[in-house]
Amino acid sequence: MKKTLVLFISFIIITQVSFAQGHKSNKLIIVTFDGYRWKDLFRGADSTYLFGKQFTSQDSAARIRKFWGKDIYERREKLMPFFWNTIAKDGQIFGNRDLGNFVNVKNRYWFSYPGYNEIFTGYPDTLVNSNNYKANPNPNVLEFINKQPGYQKQVAAFTSWSAFNRILNKERCGFPVNAGYANFNAPDLNETQKVLNEQQHYLPKIFGSAERPDAVTYFMAREYLKKNHPKVLQLSFIDTDAFGHQGKYDFYLDAAHYNDAMISDLWKYIQSDPFYKDQTTLFIAVDHGRGDADAWRNHSATVPRSDEIWFAVMGPDIKPLGEIKTPGQAYQFQYAKTFAAFLGFDFTSKHTIGEKIESVLKH
Ligand SMILES: [Zn+2]
Repeated sequence: MKKTLVLFISFIIITQVSFAQGHKSNKLIIVTFDGYRWKDLFRGADSTYLFGKQFTSQDSAARIRKFWGKDIYERREKLMPFFWNTIAKDGQIFGNRDLGNFVNVKNRYWFSYPGYNEIFTGYPDTLVNSNNYKANPNPNVLEFINKQPGYQKQVAAFTSWSAFNRILNKERCGFPVNAGYANFNAPDLNETQKVLNEQQHYLPKIFGSAERPDAVTYFMAREYLKKNHPKVLQLSFIDTDAFGHQGKYDFYLDAAHYNDAMISDLWKYIQSDPFYKDQTTLFIAVDHGRGDADAWRNHSATVPRSDEIWFAVMGPDIKPLGEIKTPGQAYQFQYAKTFAAFLGFDFTSKHTIGEKIESVLKH
């Protein structure tokens, strides 16, 4: 009896040690694009929009030189070089429906607040039915992580869209949320942070007063990362969706191209800082898709195919499988539990939430 107990305890200890040894990632960066289509990610620029005048306003020779190529492989690499040269080599990219690999949103609305609620809470709440929905009553995975041992005061979110104050429930969540045209406030701001706070207020409000251009959000996030070294960072872009709604396909492509470049710059920094290097998982997601033909500008439950999404992941525990070419189906409500699992935690909620995506966690 006693001997059995000793053996059992040794087994538990050995199991835990081997889990810890096999698991290298203890930091997590989540980046979201807003309403960026899987078609543009996997096929590159769409000739129907790029060559015509209806959805473009920049010089045609320049935009064609910048984004066009002989086949989808050249086109997608020109559009998003970091995705296709780095993540496609060292990480995994899901959602190429041309290859039968499907990712979909689970909620029934197919727009932003319901999408981000689903991403961060794992619960596709039918009550979250408007972008003006109140402060989110659903607990999110970031506030869960922020309460775990070793992760207290180690989480931060920088977002271009001001609605994240409600989506993440800034009043309740317990970690800093800098969203929309808000200054980042701290007692010890450095010169870069002061300039970024000031500069954003001199930008024309091209997307309205609730949506800040991504370049500002990115540099605020990067500066915070360098200075404060959070273990978990959320960075949420908006430019692709904003230009999509404006019907400016060339600017929409520019936005995706520069979002890709900012993630490349971020990853370069991550891999140059011993605090993050080879210990950080990067997860890139999108809140919803967009329609086809002229409906590419829009998305909602009445716009077919705008529930079609994609995600990408890379890090020390992620197998370098590249573009996933096997048939499969994943859902957005599975991300929250997967985020926690990257760090070795099990996120549960009072609601029934999506199961973690087992295949990305195999290493
Ligand atoms: Zn939108």
